Amino acid sequence: MEPFEWWSDKQKRLMEEARAFADQNLGRGQEVFWTKKFPMDMLKEIARKGWFGAAIPEAYGGIDAGVTGVAIVAEELSRICSGLSEAYAVSMFGGVEQLLAFGTETQKRKWLPRIAKGEVVGAVCITEPFVGSDAAGVETTARREGDCFVLNGKKRFITNAGLADIYVVYAKTSEKPEDKSRYQHLTAFLVEKGVQGFSVEKINELSGWFGLPNGILSFDNTKVPADNIIGEQGIGWKVMMAGLNFERVVYSAAMLGPMRESIRYAVAYAQRRMQFGKPTVDLPTNQFKIADMFAGLTTSRLLVYHAARMLDEHREAMVEAATAKLFASETYERLISDAIMVMGGDGWTRFYPVESYLRDAKVNQIGAGTNDIMKLVIFRGGLKALGKDLKMPQRRLHEKLGVPVSWGEKLPKLKPNEDSILELLAEDYMVNPGLFMSREDLKERLETVADDKLDEMLTNLDKKGFAKLYRDSKGLIALVKATYSGLHKAKKPETYRWFPDWLDRDMVF
Ligand SMILES: Cc1cc2nc3c(=O)[nH]c(=O)nc-3n(C[C@H](O)[C@H](O)[C@H](O)COP(=O)(O)OP(=O)(O)OC[C@H]3O[C@@H](n4cnc5c(N)ncnc54)[C@H](O)[C@@H]3O)c2cc1C
Repeated sequence: MEPFEWWSDKQKRLMEEARAFADQNLGRGQEVFWTKKFPMDMLKEIARKGWFGAAIPEAYGGIDAGVTGVAIVAEELSRICSGLSEAYAVSMFGGVEQLLAFGTETQKRKWLPRIAKGEVVGAVCITEPFVGSDAAGVETTARREGDCFVLNGKKRFITNAGLADIYVVYAKTSEKPEDKSRYQHLTAFLVEKGVQGFSVEKINELSGWFGLPNGILSFDNTKVPADNIIGEQGIGWKVMMAGLNFERVVYSAAMLGPMRESIRYAVAYAQRRMQFGKPTVDLPTNQFKIADMFAGLTTSRLLVYHAARMLDEHREAMVEAATAKLFASETYERLISDAIMVMGGDGWTRFYPVESYLRDAKVNQIGAGTNDIMKLVIFRGGLKALGKDLKMPQRRLHEKLGVPVSWGEKLPKLKPNEDSILELLAEDYMVNPGLFMSREDLKERLETVADDKLDEMLTNLDKKGFAKLYRDSKGLIALVKATYSGLHKAKKPETYRWFPDWLDRDMVF
C-alpha cells in the first residue's frame, strides 16, 4: 500500500521498514497459527527496532512518529499474525497515551524510555467479570492507606495478561453519588508485574488471536504506591476516554494487514484457478467481490489514518476514532468472508492463512468497545459535532405553489400570547404535518419571552385542549403540537386545504 501524502518522511521510512519486516516474517507468523506459541522472538526484534517508541517523543527515548507511526507499525505487523500485532497494539494503548497525556514528568521519565526500548510491555485493564460495556461501573476498589492505595477486585479479558510488565488499571476510589454522577469516582493506576497480591487467575482459550495471552487478573489487597496514579485521583474516566480514542485507531489499523493479505491471496488465487475453461478471476461474481474488497480496504485505511492524524494534531477525534473502528471491523468480516468465497473450498482450509483471519473478525467488533457502543458514541458525538447543521430549517408555504419549502430568510416574529402560539402551531401543521414544534422552534418565531411565561401559556393551551405537550426526563416542556381542536380554533378549515393542479376537482369534497 502507498503512504499517504500527509505523512512525514520519518513515517514513510517507518512504513518501508515495517513492511520489509512483515514481508520477511510472513511464514514465521503462520507458524503461530499451528503452534499457538507466542512469537516472543519477534516481539524482541520489534523492541530492538525501537518501534515501541513510535508515539513517544525523542526526549523520552522514542522516535516521535505519533499515533500515525504506531498505526503504521500495527498495520504491517498484523500481516504477520494477529497475536503479534495485538500484543504490540495493546502495549501501546496500555500506557503510552495515558502517560503522555496525563502522567507527571517523573512518571514520564521513569516509564516512557523503558517502554520505547521495549523493556516493558503494557496492558490495559478496564473490563471486569461483571463490568463490560458499562465501563463507568468498575467494581475494583482502591482504598488509600498511607502512601499507597490498596486494590481489590478482578479484571477480565485482559490482553497481554502475564506477558505485560505494566498494567493500566482503572479502579473505584469514591462511592460518593456526586462523584459518580460527575464521573469522578475512578482513578487510573499503573500496576507493576510482581507486586504482592497481583496475580493471573485464568488464561482464556480464544477463537482466534492464536498464541496471545488473554485472561483474568486478580487484585487481592494489592498495594500500589500513590505515585503510580496516572494524572490524579478522580480523573480515571478522562484518562480512560483519552486512551480509548488512541486504542480504537490503533486497533483498527491492526485490521488492515489481514484485509490486504486476504485480497492478495484472493486475487492471486483467482488468476491461477481455472474453471469453465478460464481463470475464475474472469467471472464477474469474483470481480465484484474483489472490487468490494478494494473499496472496503481503501475506505477503512483512509478513516484510520484520518483519525490518527487528528489525534496527532491534538484535535478531538472521538467520533472519527469510533467511526474508523466501526467501519473497519464491519468491512473486515465481509471482506475476508468474500476472499474465502473467491478461493472456494481452499479458502476454508487452514493451508491458506485467510480462514485464520476470519477467526478474528468477531473480536474486532467486540474489543475496544463493541460496535453497538461505537454507534452510541457516533450518534451522540455526531449530534454534538454537527450541532447547528442538524437544525430543522424554518419552512413556510410557497406563495405561488402553496407547498412547504425551506426559507432562507428568518420568518417574522409574533408577539408572545396564546393566540399567536396557536397560530404558529397551525402554520407548522401546514408545513410539517406529523411533527411537534420544539421549544426552540417556537422561541425563534416569538418576540423575547421568558421561559416560565412561555411554559404558562403552553400549559394553559394544554389545559384548554388546544395543545398537547411532551415533557423531557427533567419534566421540562420540550415539544408541543396543536390538537385538532387547536387547529380548528387557529384557522378556518379551508386554510389547510391544498390539492395538486393535476387533480380532478370532482375528486375532492
Ligand atoms: C479477545 C478480547 C480481548 C480483550 N482485551 C481487553 C483488554 O485488553 N482490556 C480490557 O479492559 N478489555 C478487553 N476486552 C473486553 C472488551 O472490551 C469487552 O468484551 C467489550 O467492551 C464488551 O463487553 P462485554 O464482553 O462484557 O459485553 P457486554 O457489555 O455484556 O455486552 C453484551 C452485548 O450487549 C450490547 N450492549 C451492551 N450495552 C449496550 C448499550 N448500552 N447499548 C447497546 N448495546 C449494548 C453489546 O454491544 C453486546 O452486543 C477484550 C475482549 C476480548 C473478547
